Amino acid sequence: MRPFDYERPWNIDAALAAVRDTPGAMYLGGGTNLIDLMRLGVLAPELLVDVSRLPFDRVEETGDGGLVIGAAVRSADLASHLGVRRRYPVLAQAALSVGSAQIRNMGTVAGNLLQRTRCAYFTDVTKPCNKREPGSGCPAVDGVHRNLAVVGYSPSCVATHPSDLAVAFAALDAVVRIEGATGPRRVPITAFYRDPGDDPRQDTVLEHADLITGIEVPPAGAAAHSAYRKVCDRTSFAFAVVSVAVVLEVTAGAVRDCRIALGGVAPKPWRAERAEEVLYGADATEENFARAARTEPAGARPLRDNGYKVPLVRNLLTRTLIDLAKKGA
Ligand SMILES: Cc1cc2nc3c(=O)[nH]c(=O)nc-3n(C[C@H](O)[C@H](O)[C@H](O)COP(=O)(O)OP(=O)(O)OC[C@H]3O[C@@H](n4cnc5c(N)ncnc54)[C@H](O)[C@@H]3O)c2cc1C
Ligand code: SF4
Repeated sequence: MRPFDYERPWNIDAALAAVRDTPGAMYLGGGTNLIDLMRLGVLAPELLVDVSRLPFDRVEETGDGGLVIGAAVRSADLASHLGVRRRYPVLAQAALSVGSAQIRNMGTVAGNLLQRTRCAYFTDVTKPCNKREPGSGCPAVDGVHRNLAVVGYSPSCVATHPSDLAVAFAALDAVVRIEGATGPRRVPITAFYRDPGDDPRQDTVLEHADLITGIEVPPAGAAAHSAYRKVCDRTSFAFAVVSVAVVLEVTAGAVRDCRIALGGVAPKPWRAERAEEVLYGADATEENFARAARTEPAGARPLRDNGYKVPLVRNLLTRTLIDLAKKGA
């Protein structure tokens, strides 16, 4: 690991200034991803600005019945928060599915959204990778891609984004709060991640020194009837092969509200708009749930070895919709 400096400012302005004034500076949350990438030689920041103890480490209620989840809230605290568990089960379940107890105790919400892909070529600096070095190539296209994207990728990069929380936030229409050089701004989570295009280096729309301060979650409404389901290669301590986040409201046997996001299939949480369109107003039957699931991931073009993800995510979505409807959604 290359030597680096470390600072721990006590307010947001000092944190912003420290990173803005040093081109090679990065924010540090719990360090569970960034420090790994530094050890592997993937990243070499010259300054780490620790934001894990800034005063955005709480889950707060908003006047209209929504929540603001501070950027430095740990996954473990999100998973066990009573209001989140009662009113946004999809989010509590996603947080509980993150890694292990140790990872959940250290990893922050902002760090979870900004963690990098688990594509094995990205973390192996002896291999080419367009995400690390644009123009060097993407060996995953013809190589090991069993766990990579089936939709939304480009010829330059077929990686998936590994965050569980981002998938739940996408189904909740959450908004990312950002402080930057030009002041505060808000970006819907569905617009937060970039398509890989010709230059897949940047995963998100964040600019240098942009600091995430929190995530706004709109008032619960139907979100009280929601669930996060994740399929992994083993039952715990593993990233999603595929996952689904579903909000479903059924009244008098018909679907009144439905929001669905898929994980493990794309470079970003994949909002399943086509399935939502099929379901709005439809009878809440197993046939309609399966019919909606068959429309997703819309536009899927699996690679040689990951076609299995398409039926897997469709079955997972169908099962989750059926179970939510049975629970009296
Ligand atoms: C073994 C293992 C298993 C895991 N399993 C899962 C899993 O199943 N599901 C899952 O979703 N995740 C999983 N993770 C990822 C883990 O949740 C992330 O590593 C963690 O959430 C990152 O949070 P952090 O606070 O440690 O971020 P850090 O490692 O400190 O930072 C990550 C990135 O976020 C940036 N950053 C941090 N805070 C801010 C901020 N406020 N504003 C702007 N930028 C910021 C940093 O600069 C860095 O680029 C796993 C990780 C490990 C090591
Ligand atoms: S899929 Fe993306 S991260 Fe993986 S090797 Fe290709 S360019 Fe790199």
